[in-house]
This record gives sequence, structure tokens and C-alpha cells, in this order.
Amino acid sequence: LKKKAKAWEKEASDVNLAAVLGAGIMGGGVAYQSALKGTPIIMKDINQDGIALGLKEAKKLLAKRVDKGRMDAGKMADVLNSITPTLNYGDFKNVDLVVEAVVENPKVKDAVLREVEDAVRDDTILTSNTSTISIDLLAKNLKRPENFCGMHFFNPVHMMPLVEVIRGKKTSDRAIATTVAYAKAMGKTPIVVNDCPGFLVNRVLFPYFGGFVGLVRDGADFQHVDKVMEKFGWPMGPAYLLDVVGMDTGKHAGEVMADGFPDRMKHSETTAIDVMFENNRYGQKNDKGFYKYE
Ligand code: NAD
Repeated sequence: LKKKAKAWEKEASDVNLAAVLGAGIMGGGVAYQSALKGTPIIMKDINQDGIALGLKEAKKLLAKRVDKGRMDAGKMADVLNSITPTLNYGDFKNVDLVVEAVVENPKVKDAVLREVEDAVRDDTILTSNTSTISIDLLAKNLKRPENFCGMHFFNPVHMMPLVEVIRGKKTSDRAIATTVAYAKAMGKTPIVVNDCPGFLVNRVLFPYFGGFVGLVRDGADFQHVDKVMEKFGWPMGPAYLLDVVGMDTGKHAGEVMADGFPDRMKHSETTAIDVMFENNRYGQKNDKGFYKYE
């Protein structure tokens, strides 16, 4: 593995300007982390509310650093100024690497990736922060699939060190090397993994969520399960983690996993995740999920 890693590293192109599509939980976090570590970034969404939320989150995290004496107000302003919010693709010809972080829906991602491919240069690297959707599937309608790979951050982006860099069948070494280098520049620990639904981490995590919703269906109290898993030594239990992830993302990602591994992860009858989703309880993003957040 090490030998191969060295071969890719030589292929890396510079990332002087990045862009993120979607200013939600993940997109906002990517913009903050990139700007904080010195790579200016354009943050695009389709609505002004999304942009406002992404910027609010970045400001909150920066203000915390200032409060703790880890940054002065001048530096905070510089970091914020290096996040350029937008609703259009105006400056995308200057972008070296794009992170797509819109909703976990293959059709929406397919449309967004094709759209951005037309807005960037031929050598710009495109990546997707998809949690579960196969990179080869997303590359299917791209003109330059060699420039495309997965760049899967974890939530919350500023705290979680791991980034999965996912190599599709047509992904070039340059795309992998550039994405690995950018992840490192953001202070993250990238691992390169092969393509499949859920990659590495979510192939482990989603069967765990499946076990949790099964327990709840059998009558377990979700708060009890959370407390037990914390005593087991995990930083949080599955219900709280689903609130952090977002019920919509959890539901859609679970469906992609069940479609991807039909022999192992069957679509089951209505789960606690479905019930939360149908009742508009999305988790921390709208202040109510398994728990309430005011
Ligand atoms: P989110 O719902 O918080 O944000 C999605 C954002 O995308 C919204 O602001 C929405 O307005 C915007 N959007 C929708 N269509 C768009 C378009 N055409 N162009 C630009 N913006 C558009 O979702 P999220 O939780 O940030 O998830 C985003 C992606 O990251 C998903 O693929 C998800 O699977 C993945 N992911 C999520 C987590 C998590 O824990 N939430 C972790 C890792 C990866």
C-alpha cells in the first residue's frame, strides 16, 4: 500500500481554490475547515437560507476559537472572507477541486455533477461527499470520469479526522493524489478505499443502525440503548448519532445500502428512522429527532 501511495503523491495538482456544492451540515463544515486551514473556498447552494445556515455555523465555530484565545478577531475575519457564498457558478473556472455535498439522492447528485462539470475547467477535480452511493454510478454520465472520485468526510467535519477517498474504476491517479493532498492540507487523515455502496465506514455503521432499529421494533427504549452503548465505551449511542447525521440522510443512505447489498441488508418494514422522517423529526438540523434540541 505504501509503495502505491508514493506513486500517486507525485501526481497531485495544486488546490489553490476549492468549491463546495451544498451549504448544509456537511458543506458548511467543509467550507469552514478548508478556509481555516488556508484554502479559500466557494460555497454554493440553491437557496439563500442554506447559505445563511452554512455561514452561521462557520461564524459560530470561529467565534468559539476567538473566545478560547486560539485566534484573534482579525484572523477570524480573514477566514470568513475566504469563504465565498454564491447561488451560481460564476467563478467556477478558477476552481481546482469541487466537493459535492448536496442531498443523498443519486438523481440529484447526477444532475448536480453534470452541471458543475460544464462550469469548471477540463482539469478540475470533482469529488462527492456521498455517504453510500457508488462512485462508478455517479461517474456514469460524466464526460471526464477520470477527474472524479469520492471525498467522504464525517460529521462534524471540523472534529472528525478521517476522510475516505474513493477510487472509481475510471478515477485517475491525479484525482486521487490531488484529493489526498487537499484532505491533508485540511488537517485530515485520508484513506484510499475502493468503490462499493457505503465504502468502508458505512458498511460497518449501517448494519449497526439496522441492529438498533430492530431492537426498538422489539420494544427496547432508545434512550436505554444509547446509555448502554455509552457505558460500552462509545462516545454516543445510535439514536443520538442518528440525530447528528440527520434522519433524511440516514433514511436515504440506508436505502442505498439495502439496494447495494440485497442479500445482507434487506429493506425492512417501517423502522424508527422512517417514523421520525415521516414526522418531520430530522434530528439536530431541525431541533427534533429522537431527542429535542432547543
Ligand atoms: P443537508 O440536508 O444538511 O444539506 C444539503 C444542502 O444541499 C442543502 O443546503 C440544500 O439546499 C443543498 N442543495 C440541494 N440541492 C442542491 C443543488 N442542486 N446545488 C447546490 N446545493 C444544493 O445534508 P448533509 O447532511 O450536509 O449531507 C450532504 C451530503 O453529505 C449527503 O450526500 C450525505 O450523505 C453526505 N454526508 C452526510 C453526513 C451526515 O452525518 N449528515 C456525513 C457524511 C456525509
